[in-house]
Amino acid sequence: MKKDDCIFCKIANGEIPSATLYEDERFRVILDLGPASKGHALILPKEHYPNLYELPDELAEKVILLAKKMIVKMTKALDCDGFNVVQNNGAPAGQTVFHFHMHLIPRYENDDAGFGWNTGELSEADKEDILAKMREID
Ligand code: 5GP
Ligand code: ZN
Repeated sequence: MKKDDCIFCKIANGEIPSATLYEDERFRVILDLGPASKGHALILPKEHYPNLYELPDELAEKVILLAKKMIVKMTKALDCDGFNVVQNNGAPAGQTVFHFHMHLIPRYENDDAGFGWNTGELSEADKEDILAKMREID
């Protein structure tokens, strides 16, 4: 299903032109207009799903295979030195466009893409709390 007011639905389905690196019946891979590094791309499903929680398993399987295929090809094409494969779910996680997408961010030695997070330390209390809560859900 497409969502009328969704820009990524329109891009994925070719209603809005985009720099397309790959397309098949389910996905389009485009260059990000606000790239973190040269070659930053986005995998977009053609159907509208807001996030990974709602992405059907069948597409979730395919998207990781496509990510692998794309980064292999892009590494050869761009001669980059690594890749971040990133996928944000929810505004607190940095999601700004609420149509599932996967970021493919080429990394170059000494680039200033600056992707990362502040690391803490796993406390005993948090560890026990999380393990207990996860067991309760099973
Ligand atoms: P998010 O923050 O939701 O994980 O990522 C959204 C991404 O989409 C951002 O990296 C942003 O630069 C990119 N973006 C937003 N609007 C457009 C657009 O109209 N075209 C393209 N190609 N990228 C877009
Ligand atoms: Zn959409």
